[in-house]
Amino acid sequence: MCWSNATLFYGLWVTTASLNFAATAHKATRPTVLAIDLIISRRRRGKLEIEGQEEKTTARQLPEEVWELVKDELLGVEIRKAELDTLDALRCTFCTERDSGVYDCECCSLRPAQLVQMEDGHLWSRWGQPRCPDAACIEGVWRSGITWLRNKEQLSDISSLLSHHRLTLASEQMWHEDPKLFDEDFESLSAIAHPLQSTNAPSDTFPTVCADDIHNGEVTAKADAVFGLTPEALALPLDADHRFARLVFKYRLLLVDRTKSTICPIDETKDELPLLDQPVTSNPKLSGDDSSAKKDGQAPSLFAEGEPRWMLWSLAESCL
Ligand SMILES: [Zn+2]
Ligand SMILES: [Zn+2]
Repeated sequence: MCWSNATLFYGLWVTTASLNFAATAHKATRPTVLAIDLIISRRRRGKLEIEGQEEKTTARQLPEEVWELVKDELLGVEIRKAELDTLDALRCTFCTERDSGVYDCECCSLRPAQLVQMEDGHLWSRWGQPRCPDAACIEGVWRSGITWLRNKEQLSDISSLLSHHRLTLASEQMWHEDPKLFDEDFESLSAIAHPLQSTNAPSDTFPTVCADDIHNGEVTAKADAVFGLTPEALALPLDADHRFARLVFKYRLLLVDRTKSTICPIDETKDELPLLDQPVTSNPKLSGDDSSAKKDGQAPSLFAEGEPRWMLWSLAESCL
């Protein structure tokens, strides 16, 4: 069945891999982070009780900033661990043995196993195309479906991470630069959105206008669907941008700007008022006040790369 959908959302795009690793790390660090938050909270209220420590070195003396650094460090370690665990699960037997120094290959056997492990480029240790002599690692990637599928556990982990920041996935669909190479696309993207709901769908589903079955066998038909928008749906909470910034910065998400064009209002005052008298808002994002760009006759730069914004995402799949 052919389908086409359109999603209006306020948000941004991140690489699917960085989101997956962040979600796994979020789950792994929850118990420890909650414990540290409890320590911080009790310390603030002067109710932190320490047992079995020397008086001069108690956790009571550690300032809050140190606890925050501990949390951040822990998260960084877990995000990297999630990446390495993923690669370990996909790596072929040959590469696993070679990388652990077991395999007697001319390049590895001359050096201690530990040294081989540490050398970036030999070991497949960064998310991306594997360096495998007989393409067995990439076969593991194809079999796993990791570049285009998400299992229930992954979706639940992602949902938990995003809802913790009062955000959501705009769609479970990923975006591929080249749709034909979806099964080995290490750079696929996911859209993160400020949560919205529609009146005719469950509240945990992000609203998408979907037109199904455009084409059916020999007959070419048209289908459409229209959704309305309440003014409240377009009114963002004051901390909307802060939510995105906190998530992206804390969880080391890799941002990608993939908008092709920006919709902006027609300047109706242009022909009526001299240039200097034109009303300009104090927010450069709203006014598009980039005089140098205007002089060159180009569209003003409205957004910094990766900055959250309203976007209209159209996606279609043909059965042909
Ligand atoms: Zn391999
Ligand atoms: Zn079709």
